[in-house]
Amino acid sequence: MPLLVMKFGGTSVADLARIRNAAEKVKREVERGYDVIVIVSAMSGKTNELVGWVEQTSPLFDAREYDAVVSSGENVTAGLMALTLQEMDVPARSWQGWQVPIRTTSAHSAARFLEIPRENLDAKFAEGFKVAVVAGFQGVSPEGRITTLGRGGSDTTAVAFAAAFAAERCDIYTDVDGVYTTDPRIASKARKLEKIAYEEMLELASLGAKVLQTRSVELAMRYKVKLRVLSSFEDTDETSGTLVCDEEDIMESKVVSGVAYSRDEAKMTLVTVEDRPGVAAAIFGPLAEAGVNVDMIVQNISEKDYGSHPGSVTDMTFSCPINQVARARKALEDAKAAGSIVYDELVVDTEVAKVSVVGIGMRSHAGVASTMFKALAADGVNIKVIATSEIKISVLIDRKYMELAVQALHDAFALETAN
Ligand code: ADP
Ligand code: ASP
Ligand code: MG
Repeated sequence: MPLLVMKFGGTSVADLARIRNAAEKVKREVERGYDVIVIVSAMSGKTNELVGWVEQTSPLFDAREYDAVVSSGENVTAGLMALTLQEMDVPARSWQGWQVPIRTTSAHSAARFLEIPRENLDAKFAEGFKVAVVAGFQGVSPEGRITTLGRGGSDTTAVAFAAAFAAERCDIYTDVDGVYTTDPRIASKARKLEKIAYEEMLELASLGAKVLQTRSVELAMRYKVKLRVLSSFEDTDETSGTLVCDEEDIMESKVVSGVAYSRDEAKMTLVTVEDRPGVAAAIFGPLAEAGVNVDMIVQNISEKDYGSHPGSVTDMTFSCPINQVARARKALEDAKAAGSIVYDELVVDTEVAKVSVVGIGMRSHAGVASTMFKALAADGVNIKVIATSEIKISVLIDRKYMELAVQALHDAFALETAN
């Protein structure tokens, strides 16, 4: 029997009526002859609420308990989706991660898949069940504890199941009708893409475009999963949405293909650290151990005359997600107290955002950086940190200019038109 994976995000299962709407889409595929694995998110807002409860209870929480709490939203929607399908005479059964079992690493709140054995679900399909509804975002560690895959992780659950069950396609149903040149919610000129290359999608996702979780794109690319993003609120058919595919299958060839942003960034600067071998390791080692995801790093020689620091000194600046600032601060202060690093001051700026332009065409075209910097300058946006790679340029700016910057860059690279 051909098999499809259909994933429904939070807004698509936000209430019972929407769960019913999603279930109707599933039923239609069953009527077309497919067995279906449905992956569900928690109802929209639920995971944020659960995270909030954990943080209020314990600011530097035990990640095992975070996962125990935060994974629960998906259990509710999985059960409700199975019930809704049964009410429509579709034989369906729900599965929590541990029941499948979805085996992951024990990296709580950022776990990775180890294995998804097929036996249990295959046996149910063989019994005549047409739909397996699986709670997204969660798994079980080798120690037998519940894990979660990081925010947006249901996308990754969906792709992993599509790979494990050799699905014909993995359809990600969400609240937009595809992948756009930038977030259509902040740039009205954003244009829907018919296709996007895995690599570009990977870069956009990792730079903040939350329409797909980064890891889901990585897995899709590795296992050649046919991945599609489409709307759960519109009538859809085989041609709807955006297909994420190989670079060779794409006709469009703009130098820059999209603009991404990440609002929840923070910039931390260690003022006057020694400029000698081993210092970067002494700073970033404890941060890594504390689970801080350091992103951009700049080391710049201080111009100031530091009488108290004979020899050369430098400032070390890095960015990390805003919700890791407390953790990062503690790791650095502990290291300072233990004498393994020396610095005068820790300056934290929590009012920054990252804006990036992405495009495979950047590999062979010069001048993207200067177009980007000119466009930002023309709108009076000051750049605090810059990072580049082969197919992206990112800047850290004041958060209040984020939307303006995204729109300015969308215009500067003429993304509203296909050619
Ligand atoms: P779901 O709950 O279905 O997983 P998400 O909120 O995680 O949905 O992702 C969908 C959202 O991603 C859209 O509502 C949109 O605001 C945002 N988004 C950001 N960048 C893009 C983009 N380039 N194309 C489409 N949507 C984007
Ligand atoms: N509910 C989880 C989240 O909000 C997982 C997901 O929706 O993909 O991050
Ligand atoms: Mg999502």
